[in-house]
Amino acid sequence: MRLKILGAAGEVTGSNYMLEVGSKRVLIDCGFHQGRDEEARNREPFHFDPTSVDAVILTHAHIDHTGRVPLLVKQGFKGRILATLPTVELTEVLWRDSARLMREEAEWKTKKNFRKGLPEVFPLFEDEDVTTALNFLSPATYDDKVDVVPGLTVRFRDAGHIMGSSILEIWLTEGEQSVKIVFSGDLGPQKTVMERNPAAITGADYVVIESTYGDREHKTNEESREEFQSLMGEILPGRGKVFIPTFVVDRAQRVMYELMLLQDQGLAADIPIYFDSPMGVKATKIYEEHLDLCSSEIQEYRHSGKHPFSPDRLKYVSGVEESQAINDVDNGIVLAGSGMCNGGRIVHHLKHGIWNPENHVVFVGYQAVGTLGRRLVDGQKKLRIAGEDVTVRAQLHTINGFSAHADRRDLMTWADNFSKSAPTFLVTHGEPKAANSLAGALKEAGFQAIVPAVDQEFELTSSEKERVSRIIVSSPQRDVASYVDLARVLDEISLSVNRLSDSAPKITNVEQALPLLKSAKILLDTVTNQAKY
Ligand SMILES: [Zn+2]
Ligand SMILES: [Zn+2]
Repeated sequence: MRLKILGAAGEVTGSNYMLEVGSKRVLIDCGFHQGRDEEARNREPFHFDPTSVDAVILTHAHIDHTGRVPLLVKQGFKGRILATLPTVELTEVLWRDSARLMREEAEWKTKKNFRKGLPEVFPLFEDEDVTTALNFLSPATYDDKVDVVPGLTVRFRDAGHIMGSSILEIWLTEGEQSVKIVFSGDLGPQKTVMERNPAAITGADYVVIESTYGDREHKTNEESREEFQSLMGEILPGRGKVFIPTFVVDRAQRVMYELMLLQDQGLAADIPIYFDSPMGVKATKIYEEHLDLCSSEIQEYRHSGKHPFSPDRLKYVSGVEESQAINDVDNGIVLAGSGMCNGGRIVHHLKHGIWNPENHVVFVGYQAVGTLGRRLVDGQKKLRIAGEDVTVRAQLHTINGFSAHADRRDLMTWADNFSKSAPTFLVTHGEPKAANSLAGALKEAGFQAIVPAVDQEFELTSSEKERVSRIIVSSPQRDVASYVDLARVLDEISLSVNRLSDSAPKITNVEQALPLLKSAKILLDTVTNQAKY
């Protein structure tokens, strides 16, 4: 029985693990990489033969957990893909949206290429591939055990992260040996606003735990709500637009609910709210169909006779022209994806509106290294957005407590449920600093904890003593941790350069600065030239 780490090691995106039991191979998640070089990384061949995989189990619909499945099917995978019903429904919406975005991008690149005499560009997968892949999806209920392949049984438990999200309890049996491994998936906070709280699980030999916020604590729900309400109270009466880059699934519905709470207090009632996303309507509809899986808070709100995701003056925008027309609107709240501004309609809204000091951008979610959102949050003032150089003059705000992810405290509270069974924790789905920090805290709490590298394999055993010695150290094909560090350093360099060019006229000791900058340029050129060979 083996576990192979194929992604989300030392980084947040690209979740992908393989379990081997007997002659069977089952994948847990198979997601897109997001952030710097995402396209090239998603095009890399799988580190296994897709036809050799017997089944896939999905923790939730987010594209960094499901995005490469249509590609897997395109390359010959023919097994069952198990997920909860809301995950199945949301996955279709997200896959179709990805296929559309990739097609548009490929067409645009092809046009550019043809002008230079270069070849046509093809998307990673197309809508027909999505249709084919959907045939393999098979819904499962929460809390029931499902036999997936001989020797592997799974039980989906609520993870409280987005609608349909799951913690996976997996039992593996081979001959006399049996091992239980739990995948946290993406975990919601211990006290959620949107979904039910994450299920507490007590027994396991191994726990693969996410660590997105392994080194940070969020504000509480109450604090974040207060912060959002006072920010909106301050900025909404002003002129200008309020852009809210948001994941279209879950976060957008949360923001709409928070806006309703504002309206209940008499605020924001006369300001139009544009939900500019072709898939926004579909995602919200899926949430509405599964309201029984929502938190007590949402159920109470609904019981009071109000509809939790439909604020007054909400307008769903789907056509491109309608979306462009928002450029000419003076006042309004614009919700649009993607949440990290690395694609989608928010990019165009920012391109057209971020120069305007009367506008606001309110970040309500995680911004990964290498994304436009991260560069903005990090304070970069001069940027290239959708082919145009822009200067950031809009006012930027961050509300970090709306996260659908557990913070460090939540992760430790959830992990503590396992204290009697003493499992080994494999800390994944976090940037190196976050993953190492959480592993440290787990060790302090008396657990074994490892931060695995990509392509590392573990021979699974129920014997606590043997676990560490059963790590098979393979040669990782790519050191993702260094890759993420590299991306961060590059971001920092471009940030410094921007600051310097902004303040260039004020530099007094030019004689000293110039040779230093020239040396820096030589160093950068050296790295660039080395990278070419
Ligand atoms: Zn997620
Ligand atoms: Zn994730």
